[in-house]
This record gives sequence, C-alpha cells and structure tokens, in this order.
Amino acid sequence: MKLLLCRECGDVVKLLTDERWCRCGRAHGYYRTDVEVVIMGTAEVLLLDNGALHTAMVQRHYEAPRCPTLPVSMLELALPAHPRVRRI
Ligand SMILES: [Zn+2]
Repeated sequence: MKLLLCRECGDVVKLLTDERWCRCGRAHGYYRTDVEVVIMGTAEVLLLDNGALHTAMVQRHYEAPRCPTLPVSMLELALPAHPRVRRI
C-alpha cells in the first residue's frame, strides 16, 4: 500500500486510482497502474508492506494486545528515484 505524505501539512492519505489531495491542497497523487503512483507538489510516498502489516496486526491481536504500536520496519519513505513512484 502506498500513502501520500504532505511535507507542508503532515497529512497522510491513502493513494487510490482517483486523484487524492492532502488537507492543505499542496500535495496530491494517484495510482497510475497497479504498482506505480504519480505524485505532485509537496507529496512524499510512504510504502507500507501489506504482508508485514497483516502479520503485525495478527501478532498484536493474539500475542500482545496491549502493545500500542506496530514495528517501524514495515513503513518506508520512498526515495525520489523509486521505480514505482513518479513525481511530476
Ligand atoms: Zn498538505
């Protein structure tokens, strides 16, 4: 899953095939294909590993229900030259 992060307002929005905007309107983007996203303005992309998220949620539910956080390792900030992120 790819999330749009706005460097200006800090809003985080799930990217979809329809164009999505952050709260301040300076960052926006959308899925161009099943795996490639296009971002514009002050947007950055957060990559969330779906499999790792599911595993962490299951583990948290069954093994550590009081744990308030999920592992950071499943979330990455895409570099500007990431092959599945196109900035226009
Ligand atoms: Zn914003």
